[in-house]
Amino acid sequence: VRRAGFALASQHKRSNLVVEFNQIMEDTALRRSLLERELMSAMSEHPEQFFLQFQPKVELTRETIVGGEALLRWQHPELGFISPAEFIPIAEEKGQIEVLGLIVIEHALQFVRRMQSELGRAVPIAVNVSGVQLELMRAKGQSLVDEVQRLLTAYAVAPPLLELEITESALMIGFDWVVDALHQLRELDVSVALDDFGTGYSSFAYIQTLPISTLKIDRAFVDNAANSPRQAALLGAIVRMAQDLGLTTVAEGVETREDIDLLKQLNCPIAQGYYYSRPLMPDDFITLLRQPSCARAMP
Ligand code: C2E
Ligand code: MG
Ligand code: MG
Ligand code: MG
Repeated sequence: VRRAGFALASQHKRSNLVVEFNQIMEDTALRRSLLERELMSAMSEHPEQFFLQFQPKVELTRETIVGGEALLRWQHPELGFISPAEFIPIAEEKGQIEVLGLIVIEHALQFVRRMQSELGRAVPIAVNVSGVQLELMRAKGQSLVDEVQRLLTAYAVAPPLLELEITESALMIGFDWVVDALHQLRELDVSVALDDFGTGYSSFAYIQTLPISTLKIDRAFVDNAANSPRQAALLGAIVRMAQDLGLTTVAEGVETREDIDLLKQLNCPIAQGYYYSRPLMPDDFITLLRQPSCARAMP
C-alpha cells in the first residue's frame, strides 16, 4: 500500500508538472496569437497606439548629444506596453514590417524637421531596419533605397541626418543585393551603422568590405568590461580596430559611471545607455538638446 501510495504521489507530482508545462506553452501560444490579432488591428484601426521614443547618443569627451536612436513603442489600451523585442518579430512574420518600417522612417524624418524648426539645428536620427524588412521589400519589388530617397525629398531632410541601423545578423544573410543596397544608401549620403556588433559571427575582414560608417558595440561587451580586464581588453581592441578602419564606434547599454570612465580610457568616442538617458518622448529629447551639456540631465 505504501509503495502504491508513493507511486501515486510521484505520478501526481509528475502530472502537475505536465499540466504546468502545458499551461505555460498554451499561455505563450495564446499571448502570441492574441498579439498577432491585436497588432494587425492596431496597425489598421489604431495607429495612434504606435509612437517613437528617441534615445540620445552622447559624445564622451564633451558629453554632448550627437544623435539619437528612434525606438518604436506600442502602447496597448489593455495589454499595456509591449516591447519591440516581442512585437517586431510578429510584425516580421505577419508581413507587416515593411509598412511599419517605412512609418518609422517617416516619423523620424518628421522629428528631424521639428528639431530644425524649434531649435534651428538637428542631430542625426538613427532608425532600425530589420533583415526581414529588407527581404520582404525585395520580394515585393520595393526598394528601401527608393523609399528612403522619396521620404528624404518629401520632408526636405539632408541625407546625413538619417542613419540606418542594420544588425549583424541581417548582414550575415550575405546576399549581394543587401550589400548593394547599403552602397546605394551611402551614395545618397545616408549613414549606415552595424547594430549589435559582437553578437553575430562577422569578422573584421568581412566588415571592412561593407559600406558602413559606424559600429554599435552590443551591450554584452560593455556590461562586464568595467569589472573584467579581459573584457576591457577585448572592448579596447574592437574600438582600435574600428578606428583603424575609419569607423566610428558607439557603445550600447552604458549604465554606470564606471562604464563611461572605462570607455573614455579606451578612446571610444560615443555612448548610448540608461546612464545618460532612457529613450525619451520627443518633447523631452528636445528639452535635453536645449541644454549645453546633457550629462545626466534626465533621471
Ligand atoms: P537595438 O536597436 O539594439 O536598441 C537598443 C535597445 O537597448 C533598446 O531596447 C533600448 O531601450 C535598450 N537600451 C538602451 N540603453 C540601455 C541600457 O543602458 N541598458 C539596457 N539594459 N538596455 C538599454 P528596445 O527599445 O526595447 O528595443 C529592442 C530592439 O527592438 C532594438 O534593439 C531593435 O532591434 C528593435 N527595434 C526597436 N525599434 C525598432 C524599429 O523601429 N524597427 C525595427 N526593425 N526594430 C526595432
Ligand atoms: Mg538599434
Ligand atoms: Mg543594438
Ligand atoms: Mg538589440
